Amino acid sequence: MTDSPPFILRIAIPTPLRRSFDYLPPKGLTAPPPPGVRIRVPFGRGRVVGVLLETDTRSEVPRQRLRPALAVLDDEPVLDAELLLLLRWASAYYQHPIGEVIQQALPALLRQGQPARVPEAVRYRLADAGRTADEATLARAPRQRHLLAMLQAQPAGLDSAQLGALDFDWHGPMQRLVERGLVTRETDTALLPEPVASPVTGPEPNPEQQAAIDAVPDTGYHGFLLDGVTGSGKTEVYLRLIERTLAAGRQALVLVPEIGLTPQLLQRFRERLATPVAVLHSGLNDRERLRAWLAARAGEAGVIVGTRSALFTPLARPGLIVVDEEHDLSFKQQDGFRYSARDLALLRARNLDVPIVLGSATPSLESLENCARGRLTRLHLSGRAGGAVAPECRLLDVRSQKLQEGLSAQLLARMATHLEAGNQVMIFINRRGFAPVLMCHACGWHARCSRCDAHMTVHRRTNRLRCHHCGSERPLPAACPACGSGELIHMGYGTERVADFLAGRFPEVPVLRIDRDTTRRKGSLQALFERIHAGGAQILVGTQMLAKGHHFPALTLVGLLDADYGLFSADFRAAERLGQLVLQVAGRAGRAETPGEVLIQTHHPDSPLLRSLLRQDYGRFARALLDERRLAELPPFSHLALLRAEAVDPAAPLAFLARARELAEQQGHAGVELFGPMPSPMERRAGRTRAQLLLQADARAPLQALLGPWLQALETDKTGRRVRWSIDVDPLEMF
Ligand code: ADP
Ligand code: ZN
Ligand code: ZN
Repeated sequence: MTDSPPFILRIAIPTPLRRSFDYLPPKGLTAPPPPGVRIRVPFGRGRVVGVLLETDTRSEVPRQRLRPALAVLDDEPVLDAELLLLLRWASAYYQHPIGEVIQQALPALLRQGQPARVPEAVRYRLADAGRTADEATLARAPRQRHLLAMLQAQPAGLDSAQLGALDFDWHGPMQRLVERGLVTRETDTALLPEPVASPVTGPEPNPEQQAAIDAVPDTGYHGFLLDGVTGSGKTEVYLRLIERTLAAGRQALVLVPEIGLTPQLLQRFRERLATPVAVLHSGLNDRERLRAWLAARAGEAGVIVGTRSALFTPLARPGLIVVDEEHDLSFKQQDGFRYSARDLALLRARNLDVPIVLGSATPSLESLENCARGRLTRLHLSGRAGGAVAPECRLLDVRSQKLQEGLSAQLLARMATHLEAGNQVMIFINRRGFAPVLMCHACGWHARCSRCDAHMTVHRRTNRLRCHHCGSERPLPAACPACGSGELIHMGYGTERVADFLAGRFPEVPVLRIDRDTTRRKGSLQALFERIHAGGAQILVGTQMLAKGHHFPALTLVGLLDADYGLFSADFRAAERLGQLVLQVAGRAGRAETPGEVLIQTHHPDSPLLRSLLRQDYGRFARALLDERRLAELPPFSHLALLRAEAVDPAAPLAFLARARELAEQQGHAGVELFGPMPSPMERRAGRTRAQLLLQADARAPLQALLGPWLQALETDKTGRRVRWSIDVDPLEMF
């Protein structure tokens, strides 16, 4: 065939298959397009939007079996070479299909094949002539008359979205109104709000902050861990580094945890920086997201602040990456493409040859170990900036004490003192709802979830039983379903119960409950924070949500009710999390001039772990944990991957994993130990039985060498069809 095209297109397609797909160029395309452009292709019986990975002269598939692509959608790549490289690397490392990985990196509108330019918002407004328009001139045009009347009632005008709600096609009539000079048409294509005219100057850095700022080079890859307690001035250091980056004409990418992206933080950035700040988080609509993404790509935004997936934002002139609260779990995606944005950020900084700063009051053991090995440089801020003093931390021995709804008499007495002084008190519990267990006093029946190996939590406000693992709900029974007795006991306590009790105990003080139940509605968390900031004596009862970087200036006492769970968990990371939690929570207390107090209730007042936390010496605490991990050969001293499987058929997951193990053994797995298959810690969840196979290796290389071909084989193995399975490389949660 003489007219056979000289190249083929290798395309990433949004499908769970672990491969790319080859296509012939669309008709009429003679020159190979650049990698990173979107291409519409036939796939199966439909059409999809894929992204060009590369062009090649040869395909492993015979030419006559290749289908031609339909159309190239972009002139310029939507993913530049740098991002494509990062995504291909991530796909290989996390063993997730390239098509899905690339999908995740693109804003929804681009995934759908919309043009990669600012979605135009068109707005129509009344022109001067329209105000006095004579009804008679439009007598024979009822639709124009209708539109004009609408605009006369709407001084702000109407945009295309609002007009779209009309039950007739408004485009033609509106166009004629514009032609008659009665209406004006404005398009709004600005990418971002204008930056402030005169940015606020920050406080003069203290010597430690200055040393940290000076240590970070202007250009060139270098990784840092900025380690300092909450309030030590880490954000100030980021701001100074960002100012310097902007002054050099470059952009800064700042990743923050889900809960850390508050209006206060954004306001602080916007007040300080003379550049448009693009924000990327899950609450944006598709158009806003595309705008922010384009503003970053075009270099219009000097700073991009976002949560996990903002890592994949294209940057015109990259200069700095910051990952705040680097230990936070939300940087790891827990389903689908299970990547760590923190770990990938280090790789991206290296590829871009720019400095990166990971910051935390309670660094992950991984990052601390990276400092010990010289891969990261540690920068330390030892004090609290602005003169605030560290809170005093004490353990309250609650052994054989009478507790009222989980609170000891000592804690209640301290609460009274702080509240009388007009201060705020925070009570931290790890459980939402009223009580975690409903039990029959007569026969011992427990309310269990029918779909999970779990108890159902009592929610008294809504009078329901709810499973926190699968979301099933049912009404709270009035009598025991097993024996009919009316004596049902609520065992244990959650935020609802503690908040109710405290409201009765301190009737003159407002009690605010902050957990997923009270913050589900958009804006409700913000409203709660505003109430806290308004000041005055208040009791805050909440879960982890309360522990993250919020500034509560009037808060002087923090009580932790159930620290002990972290001491005995089956999860080897539980102690690390407990330590982080205690210190983060402690960081909330006594921020401004008021010294704080932290009280930890425990049945194990002699626990060395808790004792080391009291000194608020996280470094020492972390070193002790690292020693344990080294002895146990756990991460960061080994590398894990977890193959999970689940199915309605209770036998299928273990059968699949046994087959998986057999395949690994056939293939050979030198340097990688296999543990299992075994049932997952919570074996049944949402009506499915779950099991797992753990892989552990001293080094990443043998693990990676095994995973690639092994998962390819598993993908085509027929036992795999009976289960849902997934691979998690560097898992953070072991269930
Ligand atoms: P972190 O990010 O470590 O929690 P921040 O940067 O938010 O700390 O600083 C905590 C508070 O201290 C903020 O109100 C900040 O404005 C103030 N602050 C930070 N650095 C200084 C400084 N060098 N001088 C005075 N106040 C400072
Ligand atoms: Zn009973
Ligand atoms: Zn359940």
